[in-house]
Amino acid sequence: MKKVRHVLGISGGKDSAALAIYMKNNYPHLDIEYYTADTGKELDETYKLITNLEVYLGKKILRLTGANNSPELPFDHFLKMYGGYLPSSNARWCTKNLKLAPFEKFVGNDPVISYVGIRGDEDREGYISKKNNIQSIFPFRRNIWSEDVISKVLSNESIGFVLELFESVEANSKTDRYKEILKNPLTSSYNQQQKLNQLLDLGIKEFNKLVFTFIKSTKYPLAQEDYFPLVENEEILVRSDIFNILETSGVGVPEYYKEIEFEVNGKIGTYARSRSGCFFCFYQQKIEWVWLYEQHNELFLKAMEYEKDGYTWIQDEPLSELIKPERIHKIKEEYVKRTNRKNKVQSPYLLDILSEAEGEGCASCFI
Ligand code: SF4
Repeated sequence: MKKVRHVLGISGGKDSAALAIYMKNNYPHLDIEYYTADTGKELDETYKLITNLEVYLGKKILRLTGANNSPELPFDHFLKMYGGYLPSSNARWCTKNLKLAPFEKFVGNDPVISYVGIRGDEDREGYISKKNNIQSIFPFRRNIWSEDVISKVLSNESIGFVLELFESVEANSKTDRYKEILKNPLTSSYNQQQKLNQLLDLGIKEFNKLVFTFIKSTKYPLAQEDYFPLVENEEILVRSDIFNILETSGVGVPEYYKEIEFEVNGKIGTYARSRSGCFFCFYQQKIEWVWLYEQHNELFLKAMEYEKDGYTWIQDEPLSELIKPERIHKIKEEYVKRTNRKNKVQSPYLLDILSEAEGEGCASCFI
């Protein structure tokens, strides 16, 4: 049987970088292979982060590219193949060719545990790969398991089997309550998430041990391992923890996350880029495009050069329109208004507002 490989993708964003540091600090015995899928179009800060990380980890981060033998940068190579058709959230050929395909090639048919840096304060599942030799684990979340695993463990068909397995899990005084919850079938008024939350509320370690035992009866890569240290992990890491890890390790927070002040109508607002990825990424908010124009003008101009033959990064608004002074003024004005409104009704922290913007997008590019 092939040995299980442990891999961690560095997107260039803060969360995957923090995860790499976290795994090295907490699980130094896991032999993790680090990789990054490079589009050739990241900001310089991203490349700097990767270099800093290599120093901290004492390991090379393997560079994967989607177009190995091309004289052009990977993104440009594929853009030509697609006849200049720019990617968009509905046609994400970039992620498919530049991130997922190189990753799946790198992994081949080996059994692989892939660690993904989705945080405890995020409400999303990270799609990484549908290949069944790749199993994703989310160490920062309360629930470290992927959705497919959870739905098997908690399905009504598994209740009897899971109760049997639970006999081998030490839960002491919680045993009876655990069994009660495990016995409850899912119904239209009691869904999988509710059951999962009840079990995790009662004990994360016990739940992890149960899932790990369940996995032993499956073909998931982890079934081959006798011991998985993350079963013991009860930590939940949120956005502020991530910044903390990056700062205290000395790896540093990429410059583009740092808030820069601007003035509009006599009011002070701040902007930054909310995530890593290509400098022209179509997932950017308009205020981030303005940030790019004002803070990295040369990159903005390059992004503009890609807009031809009617293809634009933002639907219905070419970048040449977006940078008209009155348009920039409007975008800033609306952004400040929105931020103030949210500050009043929600959280006093700008960090929280920015983190909302991270929700949309692609796990392989931004985590
Ligand atoms: S960062 Fe954006 S443009 Fe770049 S590969 Fe990812 S989704 Fe595509």
